[in-house]
Amino acid sequence: MTHSDTDVIIAGGGLAGATLALALARVAPALRVTVVEAFPLSADALPESYQPSYDARSTALAWGSRLVFEELGLWSRLSEHATPIRHIHVSDRGRFGATRLAASEYGQEALGYVVDNRWMGLCLMRELLDTGTQWHAPAEVTGMEPCQHGVSVAVRTGDDTRTITGQCLIVADGGRSGLREKLGFQPRHHGYEQNALIANVSTSDSHQFTAFERFTDTGPMALLPHGSPSRAGRQSALVWTLSDKELGEVLEMSDGDKCQRLQERFGWRLGRFTRIGECNHYPLKLTTVDEPVRPGVALVGNAAHALHPVAGQGFNLALRGLMTLAEQFRLAAEQGLSPGDFHILRRYHELHSPDWKQTVQFSDSLIRIFGKSPAPVAVARDAGLVGLDLLPGAKRLFARKAMGTGGRRAVINGPAASGKI
Ligand SMILES: Cc1cc2nc3c(=O)[nH]c(=O)nc-3n(C[C@H](O)[C@H](O)[C@H](O)COP(=O)(O)OP(=O)(O)OC[C@H]3O[C@@H](n4cnc5c(N)ncnc54)[C@H](O)[C@@H]3O)c2cc1C
Repeated sequence: MTHSDTDVIIAGGGLAGATLALALARVAPALRVTVVEAFPLSADALPESYQPSYDARSTALAWGSRLVFEELGLWSRLSEHATPIRHIHVSDRGRFGATRLAASEYGQEALGYVVDNRWMGLCLMRELLDTGTQWHAPAEVTGMEPCQHGVSVAVRTGDDTRTITGQCLIVADGGRSGLREKLGFQPRHHGYEQNALIANVSTSDSHQFTAFERFTDTGPMALLPHGSPSRAGRQSALVWTLSDKELGEVLEMSDGDKCQRLQERFGWRLGRFTRIGECNHYPLKLTTVDEPVRPGVALVGNAAHALHPVAGQGFNLALRGLMTLAEQFRLAAEQGLSPGDFHILRRYHELHSPDWKQTVQFSDSLIRIFGKSPAPVAVARDAGLVGLDLLPGAKRLFARKAMGTGGRRAVINGPAASGKI
């Protein structure tokens, strides 16, 4: 059928690229998949060698993402170092509204889980080793041209550049995607004029498996239960939104002063803040691409949409999209069609698009309503939280977003349909 070197070339082996490679190995095993990743792979970087670190960066996986990882055969390993979120507490500093979600209300053991990014990466790599996926790392995709068989992709390794031909290129090179612009996609950016400061913190009280989302006059913050059981539930992962000015001040502070500022902003629900680890920070913006597919090319993960991290939706949304893409590639393979066929890629986008739009809108409106302080907005904030708690419909909608169960669930075995999780 084809004389290309491979079928699907994935540019970027981060969380999105590696998950797609695994999904294709499971769902459409006839496809040849090649991943090109800029960072070197370390031969001894396997789950067996994993040592949790205090400063590890983590991701909140929604309940729906757990179901996806179960289907991919990854959950039993991932769950070895996953901290369950059994409750979510949403509050507004200085206002009386608050809302609470409990997993037990939905008959589940958790609303979601917090998992270290490194652990997720190691588990994905461990599974991928047993598939036929080809890896080029460290290597970079530097360009792409359409060709007779689909796409001809330039791959640079050190000073050497070679060409790999495939039927399609999946761009998974992250939020600062250079390829997206190079290939002529037009991203739309909306700056929030805020930064996310990320750090792990220790508290005198146990989190009791509760995630806190707190909206303050200077921006939202999230504290997610994190860390090994040996830390007795006294460690949380912090996402703290700060203006440029306040970020500058906080970064200059001693750890003790940072804990004190945090205490003022967050309050005493977790007792006293006793330690703050390494602080990393990112400017916050919403980036989306209206048309993320072209003949032979699709953008996925942060290359397609980068969201405000406080709502914890970015990777969860990406994962649902990756499963829909894998589902469409399976159907294409069954019908003898190329995965780069524009109808296949466009169908993927049509199916994923409603979830994408709703999730972007949900994250963005949460920040626009709860992240600002002018009087009318403040009233809406009070009304919003009170409404969430009192109106079962509104609360259920919020819960579905938090649990990642509102979007389309890809059918990875049997005929494709647009079922809900
Ligand atoms: C502070 C923060 C907190 C977050 N928290 C959450 C959360 O709690 N829940 C959630 O669902 N989401 C969260 N997100 C979003 C989530 O982290 C992203 O959705 C996810 O990391 C996207 O992964 P990705 O693979 O698209 O991009 P990346 O992780 O950036 O991976 C891109 C990969 O591409 C490689 N690469 C780059 N250029 C090239 C090239 N030219 N050729 C080959 N390889 C290349 C890079 O080396 C990298 O490995 C958060 C994001 C931030 C910033």
